[in-house]
Amino acid sequence: MRQFYGRGVCSGITIGRATVSGRERQPIRRVGVEDTVKELRRFEEAKKKAHAQLLEIYEKALREVGETNAEIFSIHMMMLEDEDYNESVISIIDTQKVNAEYAVDVTGENFARMFASMDDAYMRARQADVRDISSRIILCMGGREEKKRVMNDNSVVCAEDLSPSETVVLDKSKVSGFVTAKGSSNSHTAILARSLGIPAVIGVGEDFVGAVNDGDSIIVDGYDGKIFVNPDAETLEVYEQKRREDRHKKELLRSLKGKDNVTLDGTRINVYANIGSADSIGDVLYNDAGGIGLFRSEFLYLEKNDYPCEQQQFEVYKTVLESMAGKKVVIRTLDIGADKQAEYLCLENEENPALGLRGIRLCLSRPEIFKTQLRALYRASVYGNLAIMFPMITNKWELEKTLEICTLVKSELKECGIAYDETTEIGIMIETPAAAIISDVLAPMVDFFSIGTNDLTQYTLACDRQNPNLEEFCDTHHESLLRLIKFTSENARKNGAWTGICGDLAADTSLTETFIKMGVDELSVPASEVLKIRSVIRSLDVRL
Ligand code: PEP
Ligand code: MG
Repeated sequence: MRQFYGRGVCSGITIGRATVSGRERQPIRRVGVEDTVKELRRFEEAKKKAHAQLLEIYEKALREVGETNAEIFSIHMMMLEDEDYNESVISIIDTQKVNAEYAVDVTGENFARMFASMDDAYMRARQADVRDISSRIILCMGGREEKKRVMNDNSVVCAEDLSPSETVVLDKSKVSGFVTAKGSSNSHTAILARSLGIPAVIGVGEDFVGAVNDGDSIIVDGYDGKIFVNPDAETLEVYEQKRREDRHKKELLRSLKGKDNVTLDGTRINVYANIGSADSIGDVLYNDAGGIGLFRSEFLYLEKNDYPCEQQQFEVYKTVLESMAGKKVVIRTLDIGADKQAEYLCLENEENPALGLRGIRLCLSRPEIFKTQLRALYRASVYGNLAIMFPMITNKWELEKTLEICTLVKSELKECGIAYDETTEIGIMIETPAAAIISDVLAPMVDFFSIGTNDLTQYTLACDRQNPNLEEFCDTHHESLLRLIKFTSENARKNGAWTGICGDLAADTSLTETFIKMGVDELSVPASEVLKIRSVIRSLDVRL
């Protein structure tokens, strides 16, 4: 048995047989030609053919994975007409007097290398697209043989990398998983795998393709990014059980995907997902969450040995916003301190860190860190439907000061001619009893509240959330908490703001009905819980 680790980009467990593809790229020969006009004509004809194929693929993708995901193939069609790309091919044919296949191959590689060197992760991932297009044109000229993949039932496609069009034309009735040695979670291949709901793990490393042969037994664990090639009996048994459980869950999932979160009497509620990094977007989309209700941005700071700079943050936020394609994404600003510590921040030791310099308190006392994050957020705001949320608000003045800093950041961006979305919603976490009690004062200042029941419970019941000995005292259904939630939601409503719950209690299905009756508009839960909440909502009648 051999084990590999990569990044799971689509959750699920598959046990299948390996179909290994594209061990090496067939080289394109450079052939000198006399008649360059003929080569230019071959290039033009091949482009026409490629365009017709892409149109067909686009229509197939449209049927199978929806408009947003199919969009990449209309971009491919546009790329066929890209001026720089075409000029490069024509100039290589004309000046070097070579065959069109060679000119396309060299141009494709040059463009791919240019994309690979870009700072922006999204642009870097485009190298696969430009290679895909070049390959297609070459195929259309008959310069490279198209390898028809023989696919058996339950095939796990194992490849160096897969292009988006290779992914979309695969026979999905036979493919039960993807594993690629390379690839990024931003690649359209990953996006397509997710929308097809096929377990996929990418980036398992260079030695993977050499270590697996056609027909090998293979386990793909898309949850944990694990791959087992020729697993032993014990591993197989464990994963067979996991697969049974997974299938059961998916049956429920399938029947609820695409359905509304609406009660029997017609009350609608948003069910969003909580994430800690851009890598979880796959799960969010796969579980059909209506948006992201809490992106805990502090993980960006915790996974590094130094402050993430504005550009690094911008890229992550942009990726998340673009991947969510217009659905709401609530990004919470840095909530560090208490149980989340980063050495480079050099925070002083505190007697009671949960009551210490954390969340908005830290941001207001270190405005430069705060402003850097806000600049990154506002810059990213034009790429989707962003809402910015501030943690640990206790006083009105903290919110006033925070809003002043937002105004300052926006005016600085404007001065530099940098675009941002003026309609970006602003909200706060309600996670201190103080904030809940003055929610009537805070509500007119914001667009929304999101109730952080983890901290609200800790501070209301004076129960340290880190202390395992307090379980029996930490009653998350305590009347005081429920009253605070109701009060907050009523004050929001009176002032035209919406209320969400993003703490763990949002996923407690025994309270779903109570929350809806309290007027809560949104529940943000771990992605894996979205459909469970949906099924409960759909069974309720809140008039009764
Ligand atoms: C909360 O306190 O409920 C919350 C969602 O924030 P965190 O768990 O990150 O403190
Ligand atoms: Mg909290």
